Amino acid sequence: MTDLRTAVRDDYTQIFGHEPDGVWSSPGRVNLIGEHTDYNLGFVLPFAINRRTLAAVGVRDDRTIRVGSTFTDELVEVSLDDLTTEALSGWSAYPLGVVWALGQFGADLAAVPGVDILIDSNVPVGAGLSSSAAIEGAVSFALDEIWQLGLDRQTLARVGQRAENVAVGAPTGIMDQSASLLGERDAAVFLDCRSLESQIVPLGLEDAGLEILIINTGVMHDHATGGYAERRASCEEGARILGVEALRDVSVADLDRARELLDDVTFRRVRHIVTEDQRVLDTVRTLREEGPAATGGLLDASHVSMRDDFEISVPELDLAVETAQANGAIGARMTGGGFGGSALALVPADAMSRVLVALDGAFAEHGFGQPELFTVRASEGTRRES
Ligand code: ADP
Ligand code: MG
Repeated sequence: MTDLRTAVRDDYTQIFGHEPDGVWSSPGRVNLIGEHTDYNLGFVLPFAINRRTLAAVGVRDDRTIRVGSTFTDELVEVSLDDLTTEALSGWSAYPLGVVWALGQFGADLAAVPGVDILIDSNVPVGAGLSSSAAIEGAVSFALDEIWQLGLDRQTLARVGQRAENVAVGAPTGIMDQSASLLGERDAAVFLDCRSLESQIVPLGLEDAGLEILIINTGVMHDHATGGYAERRASCEEGARILGVEALRDVSVADLDRARELLDDVTFRRVRHIVTEDQRVLDTVRTLREEGPAATGGLLDASHVSMRDDFEISVPELDLAVETAQANGAIGARMTGGGFGGSALALVPADAMSRVLVALDGAFAEHGFGQPELFTVRASEGTRRES
């Protein structure tokens, strides 16, 4: 992190010809449990990880915004006087969308000075670790401080979501931004996606000698976007037939009645959401009362539900989960929207090497590409670095 901090300062000075006023950072995230529950207004339990995106920012004496990233040579320039979402595209729609969205949440963009922004990051892009929320969190937090806007972290999460929904055009919920902005060391963010209230839940992984392994299968199917939309539509249809605003309002005890009212596929989609919401609540209670080692069964059950009821797993994810479980993991599940991406496994530190070797072997044996394997620690959310 110190290296990245120094590097982004040096790069900034070289690119823009002046020193930044500061460096801010925001982490990627992993969702421990609670998949596809966000748009059903239910519960999620993500945590911020020890991979971060940095934004070095310096004030200008005009109304220009210039934004660069170490990922690309492109330097994008706009004037604050003609910043519209239609004009934004590509990667710069994330940082510039944040500028626009700050205006939507009360910043007087007609009165603020221009800025130069340089982004650097060690969050893998497109691996399901939300590099997008990390860039949004770093830029929104930096500008909130530089422009003295006084917006709280919850509001900055909504700024990032608005940028992503409107400027980028991705219909995402508030989970990623909340995790990135609100995360704390060795803790998860328990988020109620209806009220948007959040609570910090200590994970206690460090004391328990447990680690979280990410298994990035590197696979992402073409039908992921269509599949996501289809699942969303099924959930809305289920809620409509059951006469509720959202599946959040259906409890496990209501499932018998739901089975009579719904066709088989819709019923199974509904059952995933309803039981997953309950598993998030159970995980929070288990973490508080018994500690992380007791949560494995809930992670395993979450995977089965996504595989069989929601039908969003793929053979690579199933293999990752089963191999981890068979070689010492306490629990494992696919994480993220599905149809590819990553799985996570809760692994005792002394079983880690066995799990890693077994995963390499199993993927080779099945003729799958080697997965990318790395551990993540639950880490502090958005902060000023220097
Ligand atoms: P993820 O799961 O990583 O959030 P997304 O597709 O939501 O995947 O967001 C990734 C996109 O965010 C990238 O394609 C890029 O446009 C933008 N992005 C993320 N990190 C950076 C970065 N460090 N520099 C420039 N753009 C970035
Ligand atoms: Mg994203």
